[in-house]
Amino acid sequence: MTPADERFEILMRLVGLIERDLESLALAESVDNGKTVAIAKRLDIPRAASNFRFYATAAMHTFDESHETTGQAINYTLRHPLGVVGCISPWNLPLYLFTWKIAPAIAAGCTVVAKPSEVTPMTAYLFSKLCIEAGLPAGVLNIVHGTGPKVGSAIVSHKDVKAISFTGGTKTGESIARVAAPMFKKLSLELGGKNPNIIFADCNYDEMLAETRRAAFANQGEICLCGSRIFVERPIYEQFKRDFVEQVSTLKVGDPLEADTDVGAIVSKQHFDKIMSYIELARAEGGTILTGGEQVHLDGRCSDGWFVEPTIIEGLSYDCRTNQEEIFGPVATIMPFDTEDEVLAYANSVRYGLSSTIWTENLSRAHRMAAKIETGIVWINCWLLRDLRTPFGGMKNSGVGREGGFEALKFFTEEKNVCVKL
Ligand code: NAD
Repeated sequence: MTPADERFEILMRLVGLIERDLESLALAESVDNGKTVAIAKRLDIPRAASNFRFYATAAMHTFDESHETTGQAINYTLRHPLGVVGCISPWNLPLYLFTWKIAPAIAAGCTVVAKPSEVTPMTAYLFSKLCIEAGLPAGVLNIVHGTGPKVGSAIVSHKDVKAISFTGGTKTGESIARVAAPMFKKLSLELGGKNPNIIFADCNYDEMLAETRRAAFANQGEICLCGSRIFVERPIYEQFKRDFVEQVSTLKVGDPLEADTDVGAIVSKQHFDKIMSYIELARAEGGTILTGGEQVHLDGRCSDGWFVEPTIIEGLSYDCRTNQEEIFGPVATIMPFDTEDEVLAYANSVRYGLSSTIWTENLSRAHRMAAKIETGIVWINCWLLRDLRTPFGGMKNSGVGREGGFEALKFFTEEKNVCVKL
């Protein structure tokens, strides 16, 4: 195995190359996915570089544990890389999530078979060229392209692949677990979400309003962490509704390559149809569309693109399908509430448990709510504020295991305890 300091050097060279190619990678990501080039430049590509920087340095700081059984024995615990591991990622944050898996796997000393989404393969291809340029030894990272049922399932069912790190839909996670679990593979599953954004009347209103808009509509709402169920304490419900609708209706849906576009294209016709079917469902369930709800047709370069107006819906109960199922698009619902217990019951009513946001200036309430809410990630007075050292992942049907920090390095290793009698 290549020593940790050599792995560090190679991974840090990759960081430099990703940063060198920021503009062209961001452009490719935008063209492939439909996201705005602005968000690709600000979020996706810098984060891909950060993923490698973080795990390159982490690999230099690992340590083995030792336990003394007083007077009898000394134990030490070795951690060896698993060998060949599989990494499978989705289309919404293509290079960002692809590298979030690959970086810790390589830093831990594994070799990787990695599959990007067939919907957005471009930056993974460009990235493979950077790996060669950085001097990553042949065979350490094997990027394979193709569909889930064909190429993805071949990785999952291969007897020599010791672990699967997967990010994608809950249904796909289920079918991967069905194949991998009886083979006793290690599994890390990062799945769907239906995240609550809970707004108390005592919040910092202006900050809340700006962040709530971002949390609902960033990346066309195609982020697993998006706050799509917005619960507002009744005393400020009407004011919030008025201001939120006003702000959201000013978002510009447009050509993803234009600098002033806020909302780009939906990734595919298939996903566009899914989003529109949920807007129809919301109408059928008795919801009122306060703004949006329609397809947007653009001229010129984007005339074949699939665009959806940012949509806000009210008048739905917390337990209807629109409020229980993941839409993964620019669609948010707003609902009033009166008490903490009531809103906790609404928030926890879904089968998902990925992330939540709570807006309040009352510190005791914030901690009380954080302890009781059933999500793996709780943001108090913020959204998507990330520290790569923290455990990242969901409860319930949002997944199994946590990424981030040393946890991800550990995932790609096997522990062995050696007990030496004194
Ligand atoms: P998806 O499940 O359709 O596909 C994800 C990946 O799995 C793709 O590479 C696909 O080719 C592959 N795949 C599909 N079937 C497979 C199979 N049978 N065996 C092996 N691989 C298979 O998901 P998607 O539509 O690309 O992404 C959207 C979903 O991802 C949403 O549900 C979203 O919430 C979720 N997501 C979760 C997180 C998280 O961190 N929890 C982050 C981003 C996206």
